[in-house]
Parts: sequence; structure tokens; C-alpha cells
Amino acid sequence: MELKLSELKSKEGKFVSIDERTSLDTISFHKDELEVADQLIVTGGATFTSEEGIINVSIDFTTTVIEHCRRCLEPIETRIDRHEEIEFRPDMEAEVESEGDLSIYRYESGSGTIDLLPYIIRFLKLDLEPYPLCKDDCEGLCPNCGANLNEEEDHSCETDEEGEAKDPRMEKLAELL
Ligand SMILES: [Zn+2]
Ligand SMILES: [Zn+2]
Repeated sequence: MELKLSELKSKEGKFVSIDERTSLDTISFHKDELEVADQLIVTGGATFTSEEGIINVSIDFTTTVIEHCRRCLEPIETRIDRHEEIEFRPDMEAEVESEGDLSIYRYESGSGTIDLLPYIIRFLKLDLEPYPLCKDDCEGLCPNCGANLNEEEDHSCETDEEGEAKDPRMEKLAELL
């Protein structure tokens, strides 16, 4: 997923196409390791402008990330399909800026390549839910036995792990939910 600066510079002003795919396996997100279910496919292109040394990148990328419902732990598939316009400016003072939909990043003019993957991962995380739910009214898991309460509507546990009787107030609350 690397832009080769020598190639871009040799084709100055021309659109150099990008068509790459890679397997990510997992990405880290809010302390979780999320499974990436299919390949990350990146298409688009980059153009180098010699005057200011700016590299314009226009890409589309798709993949599928598996999150898990925070209440019942069932897997939730999130399809990622994004378009991004990125501008790399040589030796810019700030690390990152943005103008509308355009994200502007710094690159070292002396470097040979720019790895796009960290930028792509940063963007695809924007489509992930920090608190994913399989459905808004997910019932979650039984705190006593771990049964999925979405699948067992009339589920009731008489005792918890310590063998104590269930709190009747909690039963009332469960009826309301
Ligand atoms: Zn759920
Ligand atoms: Zn139970």
C-alpha cells in the first residue's frame, strides 16, 4: 500500500493508478482487536505536482469489519465503503490539516515512499461504532447464566452464582424493559 515517490515524480502531473488489496486480519479499536472479515481493496490514484511537491491521492476502499454487540456479544458485520481525498504536502509544519472533505498530511520530501495503510485504517475507523448494538432494544445476556435474552424471551434464573434469591425489584425492572 505504498506510494513510490520516484515513480510519481517521473510521471509528474499524471494520474498514477492505485489498485491494491491486502489482508489486515485484525485492527485495534478502543482497546478491542476487531476481526477484518475480507480483504481491504483500495482503488484510485495519485498525482504529483512538481511546483509545490504536492501529492494528491483520491481513493476508494472497501472491507468488512466484525464488531460485537456490547450487550449480547453477537457479531455485527460492518461494511466499510469510503472515498477519501488526501493531499500530502512536503515538510509542512503541521502534521495534519483539513479543508472541507480534503485531509492534508505532511510527508518528508526526502523519503522514498508514503505508506497509505495507516491513513486508510484511520479513515475506516470513522465508520465503526464505539458502542455497537445488534439492535437498539437488545436484551443482552442473563447476568446469572449468560443466556442470550434475545433468544429466550421468558428466560428466568431463580438463583445467581452465590445461590441467593433473585432480587424482586430487578424482576420488576426487567418486566418494564
Ligand atoms: Zn445484542
Ligand atoms: Zn439465566
